[in-house]
Amino acid sequence: MAACKPSTDPNINIPDYEYVDVNTKAFHIGSFRSEWLSRLRPSSFSFRPQDEDEFAAQFAEEMRVGPEIMADLKTICRQRRKRQDYRASLKINKNRHDLYADELERLTVGRKPEEVADMIPEGEVLLTINVYYPVLTEKFNYVRPHMTLLMTGSHSLAELRDAICCVSDLQVCGEFSNTPDMAPDFISKDHFKSAFFFFEGVFYNDMRFPECQDISMTTIEWAKAHNFPPFSQAKMEDTLLVDLKVKVGFPYLYCHQGDCEHLVIITDIRLTHKNDCLDKKLYPLVTHKHRVVTQKCAVCHVFIGRWFTTNDQFAPSDPCLFCDKCFRMLHYDAEGNKLGDFLAYPYVDRGAFN
Ligand SMILES: [Zn+2]
Ligand SMILES: [Zn+2]
Repeated sequence: MAACKPSTDPNINIPDYEYVDVNTKAFHIGSFRSEWLSRLRPSSFSFRPQDEDEFAAQFAEEMRVGPEIMADLKTICRQRRKRQDYRASLKINKNRHDLYADELERLTVGRKPEEVADMIPEGEVLLTINVYYPVLTEKFNYVRPHMTLLMTGSHSLAELRDAICCVSDLQVCGEFSNTPDMAPDFISKDHFKSAFFFFEGVFYNDMRFPECQDISMTTIEWAKAHNFPPFSQAKMEDTLLVDLKVKVGFPYLYCHQGDCEHLVIITDIRLTHKNDCLDKKLYPLVTHKHRVVTQKCAVCHVFIGRWFTTNDQFAPSDPCLFCDKCFRMLHYDAEGNKLGDFLAYPYVDRGAFN
């Protein structure tokens, strides 16, 4: 990591590297957007389809090439396209990741909304945000499972929070062998609603619900008592992404369920383009999601595990994973009475979000 020379441009709203190819210095997203809009020709960020001749003329001018080279380029591009299309038609054995990517592209590239009101306005900023999963198992020390989201500057941090799916929000704590029907009522997300994002010295707390607590207070007071630079607080639901001051490429924090911590890295901030998905309703747009292998029921090997039991005389292993159907068939009579001794805990598979 080499430190970059300080910029000579006094404009702090234009991002500059703090560490080359790693992260920028902090800048204000809304001001960055204004810098772009004041410098670009409106046609450069317009969503209006450009006609081919106009594009060719502009391209020739910018690249300083004459009409002969332009004609050659056009021929070569056409041939390349033909060959690419042919190759694509041969590639039949696509894996499901490719299929998913193709489908996403088909559904979103240049997509226009049905209602004009749902159209993303020209000159809007688009952020690419990676949200990393907490390290849960040793396996994840080697891969970095994450989801990638596209969001516009007018989305709030609360909308970012709601777009992040993490199994710990669905975790159910407790032993329910006597009352299996009660388990679904104990979903963590409904009980522990507090959460925060941390960007550049500011804790953005989710305060949308009366039971939300400012869980950043402990850290803020600790920092104060230890003479750290002061941190401040704001509300997630009142903060739009365009209002944030951030470093692109820098790891920030999302914390929920008390101690489930995710790194959040903004990897790109740019103006929207006419080939982007222009339908507001499809945002936050998930463009990548890590897929995990789901754990199947030990009895039927078909359905995803929903329960695990311990001290269970009916189980082939301890602990043992069951789908809901097999769990109930094996452990309760027709009236729902518990058979034998065992302890049962609800289980949420990490693959449940695939
Ligand atoms: Zn989490
Ligand atoms: Zn089963």
